[in-house]
Amino acid sequence: MADKAAGRDLPATDDIAAREEAAAPLQVALGLSLEIAELLTPTTAMAPLLQRAAERIQIRCGFDAVTLYLVDATTDSIQARAHVGRGQPPFGAGGTWVPIDQADFLGQAIRTRRSLAEAAAPHRPVPLLTRDRGGSARTIAVPLEVHDQVIGLLHIRSVQSADGEPASLSALHAVGCHLAAVIDHAQRYDREQQQRQLIEKLNVIGRTLAQTLDPERVLDMILMHLATIVPHDRGAIMLQEGSELIMRAIRGFPAYASPLRIRVPIRTDDVYQTVYRTRQPLLIADISKRPDWQHVEGLPPAQSWLGVPLLVEDQVIGMLSLTRERPDPYTDEEVSLSLSFSHQASVALNNARLYDSLTQVNATLEQTVSQLRQQSFELQVAFEQLKRLDKAKTDFITVASHELRTPLTVLSGYGQMLASDPVVANDEFRGQVINGLLAGTGRLNTIVDNMLDMARIDSQTLELSPEPMFPAVLIKAIYPTLKQALRERHITMTLDKSLSSLPLIEADTTAIRKVLRHLMVNAVKYTPDRGSVRIWGRTLGARETTLGQPAIEVVVSDTGIGIDPLVRDLIFAKFYKTGQTATHSSGETKFKGGGPGLGLAIARGIVEAHGGRIWVESPGYDEERCPGSDFHVVLPLKPAMVLAEGR
Ligand code: ADP
Repeated sequence: MADKAAGRDLPATDDIAAREEAAAPLQVALGLSLEIAELLTPTTAMAPLLQRAAERIQIRCGFDAVTLYLVDATTDSIQARAHVGRGQPPFGAGGTWVPIDQADFLGQAIRTRRSLAEAAAPHRPVPLLTRDRGGSARTIAVPLEVHDQVIGLLHIRSVQSADGEPASLSALHAVGCHLAAVIDHAQRYDREQQQRQLIEKLNVIGRTLAQTLDPERVLDMILMHLATIVPHDRGAIMLQEGSELIMRAIRGFPAYASPLRIRVPIRTDDVYQTVYRTRQPLLIADISKRPDWQHVEGLPPAQSWLGVPLLVEDQVIGMLSLTRERPDPYTDEEVSLSLSFSHQASVALNNARLYDSLTQVNATLEQTVSQLRQQSFELQVAFEQLKRLDKAKTDFITVASHELRTPLTVLSGYGQMLASDPVVANDEFRGQVINGLLAGTGRLNTIVDNMLDMARIDSQTLELSPEPMFPAVLIKAIYPTLKQALRERHITMTLDKSLSSLPLIEADTTAIRKVLRHLMVNAVKYTPDRGSVRIWGRTLGARETTLGQPAIEVVVSDTGIGIDPLVRDLIFAKFYKTGQTATHSSGETKFKGGGPGLGLAIARGIVEAHGGRIWVESPGYDEERCPGSDFHVVLPLKPAMVLAEGR
């Protein structure tokens, strides 16, 4: 390749002296190549390697100036990377990439892949080993080619002395080939290093992401590491908030610009809209050519820019913005590196968002829990107060009932004495008065009895004396006490045949009598005139009840006004009465006759104290259509003797 490239510069003579002469530069070139190869160590970075290579070439050959360029085939540009000797490199100094065309002579060497001497005397031998000054100036361009690709250029400026030893471009070309291989190796090494560093940096960010929930810290770290890999002057992570972009993290902004307060309005088809729409990075090589660019007051003007979308759950939520204040477009590699970092930023932001919503949910939950705690405390206080009040009421009822009982006993005792007195017995008017008095005291006695029963149920001191009894017998015994009322109200009461087959049960007869009588009285009371009441029963196996043992069921069915489903349970609470108390008529069996609202509460207390159940079934309350009610009482054959808690 060296010979082919510089073929016409090979010595034409074949005498020994000429051969030796021609061999001299090749020996130097060989020595140089070896020296350059030795520069390459596993840790050699690109910059010092190029610098030292340039120095060796200059020292060894005594050139005036040696510049080493790197060539980027994709952008067709060169960049001066090392320079020794006089003056400055003519192109691409200071890390700037310059289009190859601008460097005409150098460009020619790159394109032809041939080592060229200065155009002024291309045919003359080029002095390689000139050590004297005073000759004419020469410029030599040696393309650095490896794997069929020009990756750099060696540019030599020299002065040829009049008697200088002739040199060979082919020797320089050979040096160039060696140098290219070394640069290629170093470049690979550099790339590998960069890749490793990138992975390390992404790892650090990933670890930080896993350890902290502070998005600001992660975002700052992302910008810091990104700056070392993709050089830029200003970096920002911007989030969309409504129709504006706000800066969540920044790097390289002047302090006076207060960047965290910078809000950039989003305009139709501006750079952010493009990033948002395409969901792809956007590169702007020269911002001055973008009329839609929004310059932020107080910031140095931007030249080259890169915007990378921040995607959370497939939604663009903002962008990573990297600005260069000099014209230096971002490379494809830099774009893909920035994408990796923007991905990390998205994860951090998403984590923060999830954490925020979790914190919010937590706060709401805590607030609700504390409210509930407060409410439950207040409820507890109210409940305790109610319990105290209820106990006071029960205590009062107990005391009052006992207190009423004594004078009532006296009253009815004297009343009966009077009634049996022949004077009264023979006097119709007096007889009526005394009988009225006795009926009143009797009714008062019942009320006081009910109040005492209720108080006993409430205080769980209801005493039951179970004895064998036939429910049918009990019901049949109650029936005559209602006969007059049934006649007056034209109500039919049927005692079903099924009652007779009910077995013997063990129960407190007095207590169960109260239950059944009360249900029968209520059935009459809440059924309009000419209605009907039917009482029936059945025996239940252990599996047919929720009591877990064999039982009997007695049902009192009426064709009365029925019960609203909403109050089906409430009617069993003490003192509960539906409708207006004032509109109730008085009298035990008068239609809707008033009562103290204790009957069903006592009935439930007694039934439950036997380990039984009581409930009502009714399609609803309707005084016009009278849907009726079915009161069910289930009693175990043998009482479980559970003392029901008062309600
Ligand atoms: P009282 O009859 O003294 O009001 P109860 O405890 O016996 O008290 O009954 C409570 C409420 O249940 C009654 O006020 C009434 O509204 C309703 N109720 C009871 N039995 C019936 C029934 N057979 N039909 C319709 N409503 C009834």
